[in-house]
Amino acid sequence: MAVLGIDIGGTKIAAGVVDADARVLETAVVPTRACEGYATSYAQLKSVIDKLLRDGVTAIGICAPGPLNPKTGVVINPPNLPGWVNIPLAEQISKEFQLPCRVENDANAAGLAEWRFGAARGYSTVFYVTVSTGIGTGIILDGKIHHGKNGQAGEGGHVTIDYRSSSICGCGLPGCIEALASGPAIARRAGMPPEEVGRAAACGDPRAIEMLDETALMLGAWLGSAISLLDPDIIVIGGGVAQIGEPLFSRLRRITPERSINQFAAETPIVPAALGAQVGILGAACTVL
Ligand SMILES: [Zn+2]
Repeated sequence: MAVLGIDIGGTKIAAGVVDADARVLETAVVPTRACEGYATSYAQLKSVIDKLLRDGVTAIGICAPGPLNPKTGVVINPPNLPGWVNIPLAEQISKEFQLPCRVENDANAAGLAEWRFGAARGYSTVFYVTVSTGIGTGIILDGKIHHGKNGQAGEGGHVTIDYRSSSICGCGLPGCIEALASGPAIARRAGMPPEEVGRAAACGDPRAIEMLDETALMLGAWLGSAISLLDPDIIVIGGGVAQIGEPLFSRLRRITPERSINQFAAETPIVPAALGAQVGILGAACTVL
């Protein structure tokens, strides 16, 4: 038995045939051509499915940037997929290919994949975080994505940590953690890419150390609040900024418990994601496995 896992991003659509043991048997990548609008991107999506579809594939799982409604499979209006407005994507793909199809928010799907196959395997309650161009989160409760009433839960990147901040987030609100500690926010403050901040800090560069301390303080305050709120078994952090590695994680492990009322916070593991670049394909697949 196998399924198709498809990761729709603003620049490329990556897809793979995935079996129940998380083996990615075959992959295909096509450009999204998002700026040419919905019809072109949808044709690209169909072409990648045609390329990979074979006997034994029982379902199609798709992950895409939000906002979307995983309960109905409707893509609402993702900023980096222009023209995708209220598209009943799950229904369309299901009809077109005569297979069950689910559509999931990309961070939720990645969290599910880390729970099923990656760093959070064997745990029950998981707070998954990806820190890259934006900050995305997925909440896994008892092995299921927490969707909330309207399918909009888990938007942890838009939790306000400084309500008076002059940093306005892409969502329009001031002081979201995404506006303050995402890759671009770090690069803007530090004047260098996040990965370099880690390297320079490890070499003793005082400015880089200051930037890293500040970023870890913001992320740690945010993660500490998440522990107070969710009391998770584990926190898994992926995305480009997590590539900073130990210089970031050691700070987060120190600061996070200091910023939580949960007296067990220090025992909550904070670990790097395990699945790497194929997390999107695996996550999409997990929604239908
Ligand atoms: Zn925001």
